Amino acid sequence: MINERMKEKYAELALRTGVNLQKNQALMINAPIEGADFTRVVVRKAYEMGAKNVHINWVDDELTLLKYENVPDDVLTDIPQWRVDMQDSFAEDGAAVLNIRSTNPDLLKDIDPSRVAKATKAASEAMKNFRTYTMNDKIAWSIISIPTGDWAQKIFPDKSKEDAVESLWDAIVKIVRVDQDDPVAAWDEHNATLKTAREVLNEKNYQKLIFKAPGTDLELELPDGHIWKGGAAETEGGITFNPNMPTEEVFSLPHKYGVNGTVASTKPLNYGGSLIDNFSLTFKDGKVVDFKAEQGEDTLKHLLDTDEGARRLGEIALVPHESPVSQSGLVFYNTLFDENASCHIALGKAYPTNLKGGSAMNEEELDKHGVNDSLTHVDFMIGSEKLDIDGVKTDGTTEAVFRNGTWALNVKGE
Ligand code: ZN
Ligand code: ZN
Repeated sequence: MINERMKEKYAELALRTGVNLQKNQALMINAPIEGADFTRVVVRKAYEMGAKNVHINWVDDELTLLKYENVPDDVLTDIPQWRVDMQDSFAEDGAAVLNIRSTNPDLLKDIDPSRVAKATKAASEAMKNFRTYTMNDKIAWSIISIPTGDWAQKIFPDKSKEDAVESLWDAIVKIVRVDQDDPVAAWDEHNATLKTAREVLNEKNYQKLIFKAPGTDLELELPDGHIWKGGAAETEGGITFNPNMPTEEVFSLPHKYGVNGTVASTKPLNYGGSLIDNFSLTFKDGKVVDFKAEQGEDTLKHLLDTDEGARRLGEIALVPHESPVSQSGLVFYNTLFDENASCHIALGKAYPTNLKGGSAMNEEELDKHGVNDSLTHVDFMIGSEKLDIDGVKTDGTTEAVFRNGTWALNVKGE
């Protein structure tokens, strides 16, 4: 049974380890209206910690759906400038940004995917400047989730809404280590483990990774100067923060022109309220040249057609199959969780911070170094207990990185 004390600990963890809120710093929170109680705890704690100002943008799934059902396309795609300015002004002020993401995975299942695609693209375009703040670690940001009724019932379809929410709380507090005596200390230890793993991979400096699993045979080139990251990140100003909670991945970027072969998904993908499931993509010289999906093929097509860069990869992340998220045995229909149960790759924009000097490069330089650009960045899961990964070293020799879904390489640094 989840109690108030547990929620307080979670709120505290999100503020300390998540965005690492500083005295006199502003905080912008995007939160589901259903999670108002939890959000108020976060806000109270933020002020206790000395926040200058806390601003909430409420997200209401039901209102989002009503809008899709009732307004014409041009209203859907019209993102008012004041909304853009509001977000930008917080970023310019160096605010921390906390996203509490808990969308019903089936919210938009009856809406024409082309309308969803248009609205998503318009919103991404409008938020382009704001995104440079987060994707270049100019400000501290973090994504967490709390249970909401419809989402919880998607995961536990046989339970009442109340029981489903309770069960999801139980799962989440374990996964984000809030059930431990000192979650902040537990995260420090976890971050140290991820740091060692990324240091081992940076030392290895693989030229290429080869993925083999049922339906998957994929070669993925890593650009010169690529950097493996994972766990805590650091802002330009030197503030340590955790972009995702949970996080179990170490990640880098594939060369945007250096991906060849076919990859099969291993978990359903919740893309903006629509599910894409059992799908595969075939790449040639970095670009998706063929795709199919048992569910949500239209949605997948719209995602790939977002722009030129949406057909190329922007991330490769390694997650051992025995991660706590994976151990829960649940499919969350929420990328924040599912991506941390499984190796994954992302269509769309790469993090410039995954390349040496990348944050200071212009678009042309990034392209030359193989760093993908797009309005979108969508992770999808390709890991399973059947995944093997080989690493090709600079001298051309190959070694095992993953076997049967988990590390074959010693990433403990001993
Ligand atoms: Zn990732
Ligand atoms: Zn990602």
